[in-house]
Amino acid sequence: PLGGTLLDVVDLQVRYGAITAIKGISFHVREREIVALLGANGAGKTTTQKTVSGMLRPSVGSITFAGQRIDGIPPHELIDLGVCHVPEGRHVFPRMTVEENLEMGAFRFRSPDRDLLAHVLDLFPRLKERFSQQAGTLSGGEQQMLAIGRALMGKPRLLLLDEPSMGLAPLIVEQIFQIVRGINQDGMSVLLVEQNARQALTLADRGYVLETGELVLSGTGRELLSDDRIRAAYLGEE
Ligand code: ATP
Repeated sequence: PLGGTLLDVVDLQVRYGAITAIKGISFHVREREIVALLGANGAGKTTTQKTVSGMLRPSVGSITFAGQRIDGIPPHELIDLGVCHVPEGRHVFPRMTVEENLEMGAFRFRSPDRDLLAHVLDLFPRLKERFSQQAGTLSGGEQQMLAIGRALMGKPRLLLLDEPSMGLAPLIVEQIFQIVRGINQDGMSVLLVEQNARQALTLADRGYVLETGELVLSGTGRELLSDDRIRAAYLGEE
């Protein structure tokens, strides 16, 4: 069952200088909910996630997490509150081993939680096989798994995932989505940005559609999957 509102974004506006990328959007994520943010290239999905994770400051609006205003709080402090962002492009530490990368994810704790590490390695058996290998030598799919695993080591309450399927083979994408479902069933909330609308909406409890910085549509994953506008614009159907 879903819980109360964990993330509440109200009237958010984000600017890059003279360009207003996000034009006053409101959305929320409940506890134990997976919410997908869909939209074409340049719609503002990444900007929205970066603002929630503290990498960008809103020019207008509020972001509340677990009852506390968080807009303006820098990313490293948000991690302590339980907001963790896995940005597009993975960004693992290439010269560190898989083990060291996972330990870095737990840097806010005095020492990594060994039981959690074992759990993460159970979720991602490939990472167990590659435990002592330098992260830069992993395949793209393995690096994505490592980026997610590293985030999990910080025990987030809300995981922000930006394009986890980017550039990966369908089978790997399927595995990663299965794992996201699994960690959500363990109790974590997820705000997922995806180009792959069909898979995202199949996974998500709810979704929002962004167009040029504005929210134009929202609904349950099922509703959006059967919406004619979504089918035509994002699912490649007539
Ligand atoms: P994509 O899937 O291509 O990343 P997106 O939906 O995530 O697209 P954003 O990257 O959030 O979109 O971009 C939203 C708008 O803001 C676009 O018009 C983009 O050109 C603009 N934008 C993004 N980053 C910057 C920046 N650093 N400086 C100026 N404009 C930017």
